[in-house]
Amino acid sequence: MSTNSYADAAERPIGLTAPSGIDREAHNRLDEAWLAAAWSHPTTRVFVVSGGQALVDDTTDGRTELVMTPAFEAPVTETHRYFLGTDEDGVRYFALQKDALPGRMDQSARPAGLREAGLLLSPRDAGLLVHAVALENWQRLHRFCSRCGERTVIAAAGHIRRCQACGAEHYPRTDPAVIMLVTDDEDRALLGRQVHWPEGRFSTLAGFVEPGESIEQSVRREVREEVGVDVGEVEYVASQPWPFPSSLMLGFMASATSSRIEVDGEEIHEARWFSREDLRAAFESGEVLPPYGISIAARLIELWYGKPLPKPGDVL
Ligand SMILES: [Zn+2]
Repeated sequence: MSTNSYADAAERPIGLTAPSGIDREAHNRLDEAWLAAAWSHPTTRVFVVSGGQALVDDTTDGRTELVMTPAFEAPVTETHRYFLGTDEDGVRYFALQKDALPGRMDQSARPAGLREAGLLLSPRDAGLLVHAVALENWQRLHRFCSRCGERTVIAAAGHIRRCQACGAEHYPRTDPAVIMLVTDDEDRALLGRQVHWPEGRFSTLAGFVEPGESIEQSVRREVREEVGVDVGEVEYVASQPWPFPSSLMLGFMASATSSRIEVDGEEIHEARWFSREDLRAAFESGEVLPPYGISIAARLIELWYGKPLPKPGDVL
């Protein structure tokens, strides 16, 4: 397999990946005067994030968008204000973290988390929500200094937590995880079912990168541990932020050098090799549920399958 054969895949937007049209302007995060001016500018837009959710609303032309207000309509609580960036028209975006979402603004506005909203929102809105949810998750879990144990406070418009006792600065963490579609020399794909998944749900294998490991080594180790299959060549395809709570999914196609499956029984309950025809038939019979959702897993399977995967409920 030649290198970069999946380069096109990375060009198409993958769910939850931030849009290119937002400039995060990291250099302005420490400038309180600049932030105050940006916050109070009439074109600035603010949305509330709470517990991984935000309000979304359907437009009259059938789109779904984040419910945003001018900043002057939002309560000023600078300690929970995240600056997310500026778009190509100069509009600045903030997320306001609160304990609860505001009351619904009209009949159709409703709370939505990323798993739902990621499929419905425009790339811009989805990217803004991913950024806000990732910051919220990190803020929530890092209220105490990992160096000295004292309380930390928010800084840099949500992008730093600073320890007032020892002065340490803590930055949002991102945990690398690998997700891979393994294929064999007959071009069959290896799909597994995790122990807690319902009957019929199969997907790619995945796992966290361990300290001291390259990502390629991580792919080979995870596949070996979970299903007992050896992997040779590993080809990077694309990545996806996965803020549940703080991962970055690194997507690969991986070539198996052995075919005997021995599941670990702890993470993976069942794994099978599927030809394209096997998978099509399994979708048709209902034996395998079509992968659906925001995960890059569906994209990896689709790349191998060669055409769009059926969605749940499609007549095959
Ligand atoms: Zn400290």
